[in-house]
Amino acid sequence: MEKMKTLAEWKYTPAVSRLGYTRETLYVGLGNRDGDYRFEKRPVSDEMIDKFIGGRGFGLRLLWDAVKPETKWNDPENEIVISGGPICGITQYPGAGKCYSVFLSPLTEQTYNSNAGGYFAPFLKFSGFDAFELQGKADREVIVFVDGDNGTVQVLESNITEDKNAYAVTECLHEYFANDEKDRKNISVVSSGQAAAHSFWGCMNFSFYDPRRKVARLKQAGRGGGGTVLRDKGVLALVVKMSHVTGTSVGPANPDALSKLGGKLHKEIRDFDDVQCQMRTIGTAHLNEIMNDYDLLPVHNYKFGRHDDIGNIHSTEYKKRFAQGMPDGCWYGCSLSCAKATPPFKLTTGPWKGREVIVDGPEYETAAGLGSNVGIFDPEWTIEANFYADHYGIDTISLGTGTAFVCECYELGLINRENTGGLELKFGNKSDLMELIHRIAAGTDEFARIVSLGTRKMKKIFSEKYGADRKTMEDIAMEGQGLEASEYRCQESIAQWGGYFLTLKGPQHDEAWLIFMDMVNKQLPTYEDKAEALFYFPNFRLWFSLVGLCKLPWNDIEPEDNHTKYKGIEAAKVPEHVQNYVEIYNAVTGKNVVKEDLIAMSEKVYNFERIFNLRMGKGKRADHNCPNRGLGPVFEDEWNARPEYFDGKLKEAGIEPGGLSVREKIARLQTHRRGQWEQLVDKVYARRGWNRNGIPTLETVRRLGIDYPDVVELLEKNLKPEDSFA
Ligand code: SF4
Repeated sequence: MEKMKTLAEWKYTPAVSRLGYTRETLYVGLGNRDGDYRFEKRPVSDEMIDKFIGGRGFGLRLLWDAVKPETKWNDPENEIVISGGPICGITQYPGAGKCYSVFLSPLTEQTYNSNAGGYFAPFLKFSGFDAFELQGKADREVIVFVDGDNGTVQVLESNITEDKNAYAVTECLHEYFANDEKDRKNISVVSSGQAAAHSFWGCMNFSFYDPRRKVARLKQAGRGGGGTVLRDKGVLALVVKMSHVTGTSVGPANPDALSKLGGKLHKEIRDFDDVQCQMRTIGTAHLNEIMNDYDLLPVHNYKFGRHDDIGNIHSTEYKKRFAQGMPDGCWYGCSLSCAKATPPFKLTTGPWKGREVIVDGPEYETAAGLGSNVGIFDPEWTIEANFYADHYGIDTISLGTGTAFVCECYELGLINRENTGGLELKFGNKSDLMELIHRIAAGTDEFARIVSLGTRKMKKIFSEKYGADRKTMEDIAMEGQGLEASEYRCQESIAQWGGYFLTLKGPQHDEAWLIFMDMVNKQLPTYEDKAEALFYFPNFRLWFSLVGLCKLPWNDIEPEDNHTKYKGIEAAKVPEHVQNYVEIYNAVTGKNVVKEDLIAMSEKVYNFERIFNLRMGKGKRADHNCPNRGLGPVFEDEWNARPEYFDGKLKEAGIEPGGLSVREKIARLQTHRRGQWEQLVDKVYARRGWNRNGIPTLETVRRLGIDYPDVVELLEKNLKPEDSFA
């Protein structure tokens, strides 16, 4: 590749990380399409560290200061803030390379945060920065390059003109910025793909170089449209280079303690992974048949929870297709190594038809979303769809759920072949569904463009443009706050209704996954129990996003005696691993926290994020929408798939099903469950210290120490006496 033209350059002296922090952040301003590029090093205060910790917390704080209440996702002042957190970059304990991106989302029109593995966040920290703020819009297509080795930040004019998709761009930039083959592992690239230039489902691909396979691998910050924001800013890629990584680069207070804790977990993984989740051989796709067994697998837009063809997508089918015996960790030291990839896989469609590629994934969410949910039980199809989605920069979960919605609309006759540009978008139609993905990427077909704006917009446009029935679409569209749901069917778990639809950012699986605890193990019998779980787990899970850790080594591997030593909800917390995290945090930062402090740290940021959404005109009870399909059957065929089961549910609710038609039964169960939903909402809000309208109270923000004047002013405007629980 020819040398790229430098549009702007800034030299700095990289700060060294001590106790997990460099105490400096990097600001890059791209101007407002006027070539006014700006660079700044900003200090990190003690207050920032105490209240916002790092990662997502830093992202939210910096974004708050950057935007106004009226800022839209595509305004120049919107930022993408990327940050790891104090623990990010250690190499002794599995799962310590995670990166958190925070931005205003085109899909939800409020704050969003999305995480990915790969080497970007650790390299950024070792280049001297706890966070990277990217603001403005470039006047041409650019690449922003942070060279931590030489203390230089550059805005370069991109000369990649032919293939602007992720695998091509990433490979090209690993080569361009490396001195030789060995140096490629010192580069990490963040890119999206051509679809992100017009779709709201744009994902960000974070890379790391795999020296054994000699390819750049991709991990996705998939959700919320971060890739769309990146492309809207005119940025083709962000690149960081860092050659000096050691086991003590974060500057830990007690490296020996880290090695000891890491050694214990490595042994646990070696001893038990094969008999527990098989993360090292199958990754998260081990869930496919488990979800099917418990009626939780999304089939045909979440209508059903299981399918006779499950054998075709059984985890053993994926195991066969993943390369085995490779150390597939997405950061140094992750022996859980779940970042599975295929051996060279020959593509059969699209612009790269006939090429052999290494495909990263599919993980469970992709296997289900671009599998059973769209009625396809063919791993080869799913692997190809996974490849192109990543390559084009499309979030596979939103794509899967959004496309499943399209298929159901098509089968119900709400849209037709004339509307879809000639595609027959029935469940299971492999060729036409693959063609839709290619059309979304191309951005020239009107229907594909509408689809790629997301499910919430589809409902509006389908009804206005094609006359589709809005009420039916509202019933069946599995979205909340504008975000498509993750790939678990939540109808039969009241706690998981909240786990999806009482979240900060929409129905995403990383906040609370309570289905097994609630529905299968019956560990949350009362509303108080469910509310407690919907307080503890979202906060505990959020803690990972503050410090730069991956959640999977928390509970996808467990100590052998976890379930004999602890029972119920306590066992689900995996107390021994929680204690490990307490000790890791102390060993890095030199602090002396206890386990209750982890929740206290998270609660500050959890509430700050909720208040941020209020500031953006959202964040109230009305925004916590739950569709009818999320609560129970909507159509007769759903009921008739399990008639005795649902009749039993009516009886439990004190409703005698005898003499009622199926339609009447559905209506009665829906009414009953809607009442249960409202009870759940009240209990959860009260436990979180919010009022009936879902707004944190003044007592809550004062208790948490986030009662900043602008926060208090905003709350005073929105808190109404009639919404109080008192
Ligand atoms: S468990 Fe998997 S996703 Fe998490 S850090 Fe390890 S390889 Fe990456």
